[in-house]
Amino acid sequence: MNYGSALYHGRRIVVGRVGDAALDLTAASLGSEFAPLFADGSLDALLAAGRPTWQAVHAAAASWAEHDLIPLEELTMLLPFTVADYVDFYASEQHATNVGRIFRPDGDALTPNWKHLPIGYHGRAGTVVVSGVDVVRPSGQAREPDGSIRFGPSRRLDIEAEVGFVVGTPSRQGIPVPIADFAEHVFGVCLVNDWSARDIQSWEYVPLGPFLGKSFATSISAWITPLDDLDAAWTAPPVRNPAPLPYLDDSPSPAALDLALEVRLNGELISRPPFAGMYWTPPQLLAHLTVNGASLRTGDLIASGTVSGPERDQRGSLLELSWNGTEPLQLAGGERSFLLDGDEVTITATALGREGPITLGEVTGRIVAQPATP
Ligand code: CA
Repeated sequence: MNYGSALYHGRRIVVGRVGDAALDLTAASLGSEFAPLFADGSLDALLAAGRPTWQAVHAAAASWAEHDLIPLEELTMLLPFTVADYVDFYASEQHATNVGRIFRPDGDALTPNWKHLPIGYHGRAGTVVVSGVDVVRPSGQAREPDGSIRFGPSRRLDIEAEVGFVVGTPSRQGIPVPIADFAEHVFGVCLVNDWSARDIQSWEYVPLGPFLGKSFATSISAWITPLDDLDAAWTAPPVRNPAPLPYLDDSPSPAALDLALEVRLNGELISRPPFAGMYWTPPQLLAHLTVNGASLRTGDLIASGTVSGPERDQRGSLLELSWNGTEPLQLAGGERSFLLDGDEVTITATALGREGPITLGEVTGRIVAQPATP
């Protein structure tokens, strides 16, 4: 059962998705020991409660499911939890290779560190928005082909189809979280669109990495899929060469997650990125993030980086799909290299569940022009 937070008749409630309806967990849990977990209408208290409680709630919710069902269209979905820290990785070899070829055509596609550690950066938690919220086209500096510097609305606004991991149980500062403890800390999975302004990004990112080209907005799905529902979706990761250092060695319990993503632009399918092929797996991302003693907080959002597969129609960004604008996509609504105002992008995903396919929460967002300043 996917979990979310919604406004219903002016009240904020926690909801569990049951097909085309939602169970009001705030109401259904009243009188039970779990009621305090849902009282404020967000997932924050549930996330902080830890794995044994997550499993107990899951078991109890099965007996609540006959009561308090609400049609989805009567709900206004909200950001499901308070985002603490946001970390974004770069864990797809195909994506990193494509970006390297586009941005550094004369150098090696992968940087020398890429197969030794999962590259990442700390993003901006305060601009994470829930699916359905419009995204304002950012303005910034960009360098023109003639070397002049332009300021204005981004002309290369892009998507990044990613998978996000939501931290529940915090960790102690100074104590790394080993690969084997992933499921003790991570509550579940969401879908992420990490909007990116390529013209701003390519001018600013040397030497400290992404900044204003990424921080204006990140959209996440309204529904969080608990790890417990994804038991059957774990699979073998790609072969790693060279072998990772011991703290990144996942050979005792290799754990790639087999999620099939689909990306639609204005309703038209443009890509099917396969998450199973990511070079670095979710437990490795968490282990690397904390290996220096950095602690986890309840509500941390850890994104995978753009999911791209080896085929052209498996690329998770327009930068790659249009090869930086040199091979525009031919769509029913016209040619597209980067996003125009009014464009709407939706990312969905399915996985194998214990009793058949399960659907993750979708993430959708529409680009709007910056409002004129009075
Ligand atoms: Ca990203």
